[in-house]
Amino acid sequence: MSEKFARRMGTVHRSFIREILKVTAHSEIISFAGGLPNPELFPVAAMDTASHEVFSKIGSSALQYSTTEGDAGLRAIISQRYAKRGLTVDPDSILVTTGSQQVLDICAKVFLDKGDKVVIESPGYLGAIQAFSLFEPEFVTVSLEDDGPNLEELEAAFKAGAKCFYAVPNFQNPSGISYSLEKRQAVAALTDKYGVLFVEDDPYGELRFMGEDLPTVYSFCKKPGILCGSFSKIAAPGFRIGWVVTEKTIYDKLVIAKQASDLHTSTVAQSILRRYLETNDIESHVELIKERYGRQREYMVEMIQKYFPSDVKITKPEGGMFLWATMPEGFSSMDLFDMAIEHKVAFVPGRPFYVDGSGENTFRLNFSNSDETRIKEGIKRLGQCIDSFLK
Ligand code: PMP
Repeated sequence: MSEKFARRMGTVHRSFIREILKVTAHSEIISFAGGLPNPELFPVAAMDTASHEVFSKIGSSALQYSTTEGDAGLRAIISQRYAKRGLTVDPDSILVTTGSQQVLDICAKVFLDKGDKVVIESPGYLGAIQAFSLFEPEFVTVSLEDDGPNLEELEAAFKAGAKCFYAVPNFQNPSGISYSLEKRQAVAALTDKYGVLFVEDDPYGELRFMGEDLPTVYSFCKKPGILCGSFSKIAAPGFRIGWVVTEKTIYDKLVIAKQASDLHTSTVAQSILRRYLETNDIESHVELIKERYGRQREYMVEMIQKYFPSDVKITKPEGGMFLWATMPEGFSSMDLFDMAIEHKVAFVPGRPFYVDGSGENTFRLNFSNSDETRIKEGIKRLGQCIDSFLK
């Protein structure tokens, strides 16, 4: 049977994280592995009301096929929310997608031929690596520093003829790192100079719980770029609603690729989410999430300082859902993972986030999905494992 599969399937594997999530799903395991929002913060009652109202007020049209571009009212709300963040976005330049993950898939379809050079951050977002890999590009990596990508490496990659640069400048998954203002401007200038398409993925930008909001890199680019957004982290991922902002020529191609994938994003989901946004104050809901995640992140850092050996370095993100740990060279977080699972605590080993197979001594911790009791117990157990492991 395997000879029937397309050649490209041979190069792409099941998402390592999705596989890990199966192991860590047991309730006795304290899991810092998944990238899950805190379900206690899902607006269940408000969504219940919104769905009743959708069916009583607009009825069957919520169940009908609709346009590929997406619900006009929803796109208007996305545009208004960008305006509050200081970015002017025409609703007609917004394409509603089935999660922001779909943007990566349709961008890959639209832009990538086999062997095209795609620049990604190292470590990089696994879902993007997977989506792009199916189109057999050549990945070129740039190291992430505390304030964003290494600019010499980035320029060298661009000079060598890159087609696009995919990046997560706010509270990156997996590292939690954010680009400084200077690096945002420098990245935009370099993409313009070398004519590299910039794909900015921003599902976490609104979840800043400390420090100053910074403009998107997209807003500094003079040449057309791509900006992806999502309701997954500020409302609920189950809706599978995200979007992409771009200029007309790119937009039209993305529409074609999306039509081939799913015709349009679920009308039911869009209608309910729109109703929810029209009848509730999403901004105060986002404040609530930020307040909670901020506390959880503070507490996790505090517990790490208490229970981890001091030669384990961590990032201290100002937002988002993840922090990133680096053990001394020569230690394997894959081996640590096996020991941690025996002690009923889980994280994601770092190596899958590096397309060059490095990063063996790193791992990702999620802080959004655990309360303080579990954070304390989980970090304590993990600290004990690391202690015995490093000895
Ligand atoms: N981009 C990044 C960086 C992510 O972390 C995620 C979620 N894991 C996504 C895109 C996809 O999010 P969604 O499809 O739910 O919008």
